[in-house]
Amino acid sequence: REELMSTILAVAQRGETILSLAAAEVAKSELNSEWLNKLAEAMHDTMTERNGVGIAAPQVYVSKRVIIVASRPNPRYPDAPEMDAVVMVNPEILEKSEATVLGEEGCLSVPDERGQVARAETIKVRYLTLQGEQVETVYTGFPARIVQHEVDHLDGILFIQRI
Ligand code: ZN
Repeated sequence: REELMSTILAVAQRGETILSLAAAEVAKSELNSEWLNKLAEAMHDTMTERNGVGIAAPQVYVSKRVIIVASRPNPRYPDAPEMDAVVMVNPEILEKSEATVLGEEGCLSVPDERGQVARAETIKVRYLTLQGEQVETVYTGFPARIVQHEVDHLDGILFIQRI
């Protein structure tokens, strides 16, 4: 059965052009499409296989504004909440707290490097679900860091540029 098979995609590595491009918005006509659902599924499988806590479509060579945020406790963030993976289409950070926090980040596209990055502690984000429903949520701490890291990918920015 097809749904039992996972699709692992190649991950673009630092220095590749796709990672420095601003990704295009997902069009209304693409919402709730088989193409978009398949992309999200493959992104999720690829992220999981590499033990990532987030992924952005440009990392799998699709220059579209789609990210997945999937916080879970890990050695660097033992208090990180375990959350179901959230797929965000056309995410927009509407508000950022003035308070920032330093925290270690890594990236599937920069496997050989980690670094301390200052990020807003709390953010409000608006996004569309795969079906096109609009959601607004507030995230704080590690999940907020993931959202900011992944939205940066959509704007062609890697965390190493923020160190
Ligand atoms: Zn990354």
